[in-house]
Amino acid sequence: AAKQQGRNRAVVYAPAMRQAVLERVALNRAMRAALAEDEIVPYYQPKVSLVTGRIEGLEALVRWRRSPHSVLSPAAFEAALTDPELAVLIGERMVRKVSTDVRGWIEAGHPCGRIAINLSPAQFADGDLAATLLRQFHAAGVEPIHFDVEITETVFLGRSSDHVAPILDELYRAGVRIALDDFGTGYAGLIHLKQLPIDTIKIDQSFVKDIERDAFDTAIVCAVIDLGRNLGMRVVAEGLETAGQARFLKEKRCELAQGFFFFRPLDGAEMTELLRNEGEEAAAARLAAFEAG
Ligand code: C2E
Ligand code: MG
Ligand code: MG
Ligand code: MG
Repeated sequence: AAKQQGRNRAVVYAPAMRQAVLERVALNRAMRAALAEDEIVPYYQPKVSLVTGRIEGLEALVRWRRSPHSVLSPAAFEAALTDPELAVLIGERMVRKVSTDVRGWIEAGHPCGRIAINLSPAQFADGDLAATLLRQFHAAGVEPIHFDVEITETVFLGRSSDHVAPILDELYRAGVRIALDDFGTGYAGLIHLKQLPIDTIKIDQSFVKDIERDAFDTAIVCAVIDLGRNLGMRVVAEGLETAGQARFLKEKRCELAQGFFFFRPLDGAEMTELLRNEGEEAAAARLAAFEAG
């Protein structure tokens, strides 16, 4: 009977598994081609001070630019970012391109602040990830102090969770700052805030969305802002889309925010143009855009 069942099961599952394998092979091939064709590129979104209106830093966000008219967000190729091999290849490409852009901005005297790079849990399988990143920064001629890395709480659930603390410690000692991304959506372990060299907490956009209406979200956001302040960490609100949200967060003494209200993610050339025109006037205009309300 068991044999019978096993056979039946095989009949039921085999096509689905076969399908999954085929999809993985296809994605692998497509991604490698995209890398070879130089279609994997960073976009950048500024982090803005709600106090001064200045751009305090940028976050690099991966895009698959298949053509000028077809630019895919990571949601469209998420499987690649979780595949151990592809995640490493994409991660290396991003760091290389971002480092080159940053170097250009520094040399041109553009004030870009720190640049944040997102790391996926799959990249932590490399126990030498810190050394790998530092080597890449060095090769591009950019000091580690120009970078942040953003991790999500999911890294602590992965197979390589043992690697996380030593890697972050090594990066931190070299001057890289660590941000905890999507805070509150994962398995919120406050212990991580205590044990790891975390500088920045990023409040997930799902809490920011209804911040003015939803008492629950308001309570969570205020608690995280206070938590950050009491621990001496910076707090960044993600997904800021309206002037009302900006006023609200500023009143709650959240210092930094990032979102479509200020900027959509921009490609490298657009970012360079933005930084070239950056200054006190632009910062003041950004404040005026929400404070008047
Ligand atoms: P994340 O790191 O939390 O990035 C924030 C996401 O929110 C970005 O989506 C950004 O485009 C989006 N966003 C920014 N402002 C707003 C807003 O006002 N409203 C809304 N609705 N969305 C906003 P994106 O670029 O699609 O990235 C999604 C996620 O993919 C990122 O979430 C990050 O976890 C991951 N990711 C992005 N780039 C990389 C990368 O280079 N490497 C790795 N491993 N993961 C990446
Ligand atoms: Mg991020
Ligand atoms: Mg986030
Ligand atoms: Mg997110």
